Amino acid sequence: MTEWRGAPVAKALTEQLTLRVNALKEKGVLPTLAVVRVGEREDDLSYERGLTKRFSSAGAAVRTVALPLTVSQEELEETVRSLNEEETIHGILVFSPLPKPLDGDRVRALISPRKDVDCMGDDNAFCVYAGRGKPDIPGYPPCTPQAVLELLDFYGYDLTGKNVTVVGRSAVVGKPLAMLLLQRNATVTICHTRTKDLPAVCRSADLLVVCAGKAKLVGKDCLRDGACVVDVGIHVIDGQLCGDVDPAVTESADLCAITPVPGGVGAVTTAVLLKHTVDAAERS
Ligand code: NAP
Repeated sequence: MTEWRGAPVAKALTEQLTLRVNALKEKGVLPTLAVVRVGEREDDLSYERGLTKRFSSAGAAVRTVALPLTVSQEELEETVRSLNEEETIHGILVFSPLPKPLDGDRVRALISPRKDVDCMGDDNAFCVYAGRGKPDIPGYPPCTPQAVLELLDFYGYDLTGKNVTVVGRSAVVGKPLAMLLLQRNATVTICHTRTKDLPAVCRSADLLVVCAGKAKLVGKDCLRDGACVVDVGIHVIDGQLCGDVDPAVTESADLCAITPVPGGVGAVTTAVLLKHTVDAAERS
């Protein structure tokens, strides 16, 4: 069984992107991502640390706009509007979910599509679902689903004609991922909490992608011999990180390949964010 680790994928992407960052710097452009964070959730801080490290390793920049929990809707919206206007900012990421009573939908809708590097607004989402771009709208997919594709490409997994089951239908991971897989000519089945006999549907897959947000949901009963598995889930159980797939399957099931948690898809996500930001800087 092969382990599809994220680190080599992220490293290869970062190396290619460093060349593009250097070329931009020679033209006087420093690719810069603005991160808007409200409060100090540990998840947000940890993701912020990871992406700052990734950007710095490629010579790109991150500007954090840290706002207090008391920030008003108007102040937050004004922050996004002013980042839209700033020429030296190429990408904007607003950490979600926003604390109540802030209205995340209104904030996400304000992000300029040209700077919407994690597909938070409807314009880029349209492109992902339609499978085509629009003039002046780059159509950046959300970073996590795109990270799954980067990982599969790196390990040479050809999706054409493959039966792929995606467990999860969230707007940020499962649904857009299913669309990206469809564009690569996979035959895609999407599962959710009302799916009947989840193990049987999973067993029909050549490739199983699990993004259900339920620790150890997928066990040996969900896997046919020779299947490949991408585990997008991230959980902390008793201080240990684990995914949506029970790690025991690596011993009990006869798999072709699996992504580890930690060290799988999560490691690639920040590299995709860098890729979209560099692309936005090149277009600017
Ligand atoms: P989410 O919004 O909670 O969505 C979970 C989806 O899974 C829902 O569509 C839900 O179905 C489905 N689901 C839940 N339990 C199920 C079950 N028992 N059987 C079948 N389907 C089930 O989660 P998310 O934001 O998409 O995130 C999913 C996971 O990915 C989380 O663990 C998250 O931490 C992780 N994540 C990882 C990264 C990364 O970079 N690696 C990035 C983002 C998220 P219903 O629609 O019917 O409720």
